[in-house]
Amino acid sequence: MNVIEEVLKHNKSYAQGFTLGNLPMPPGRKLAVVACMDARLTVEEMLGIKTGDAHIIRNAGGIVTEDALRSFIISHHLLGTQEFMVINHTDCGMLTFKDEELRAKLQQQSGTATVVPVHFHAFSDVEENVRQQIQKVKSHPWIPKHIPVRGFVYDVKTGRLTEVFT
Ligand SMILES: [Zn+2]
Repeated sequence: MNVIEEVLKHNKSYAQGFTLGNLPMPPGRKLAVVACMDARLTVEEMLGIKTGDAHIIRNAGGIVTEDALRSFIISHHLLGTQEFMVINHTDCGMLTFKDEELRAKLQQQSGTATVVPVHFHAFSDVEENVRQQIQKVKSHPWIPKHIPVRGFVYDVKTGRLTEVFT
């Protein structure tokens, strides 16, 4: 059985016991998080939040991309979130390559250059990367200055979050 068939089978029993059908759309804890997509991070578990509590935006690296900014702006202005977190982590795959090397490799393998993605957003210093992401959120003119934007590194060995101060 392939994995998609396996997870669809799980969903059948999940839906049979489903009790969350009446949650409101706005996140109950008024929190929005951007986090790396790394499979070792279970954001809800590490933060003690539940379905309906928060917006969780995930991508490779936990990068504040244009799309993450789009989501934060919608999250705050249309759905009422009031605090933002950026979560990167130790042993991130984004520390293992350079944008230009990956681009050159993929161009060579495929025989084609592409317009997108413009950047892969690889980085070499996770704390510095978190600072840059916080800065991108805080400097956006459509994100009010009173919104706390705090950044963290999650340790995949201990489960602990350590705050990165700007
Ligand atoms: Zn990662």
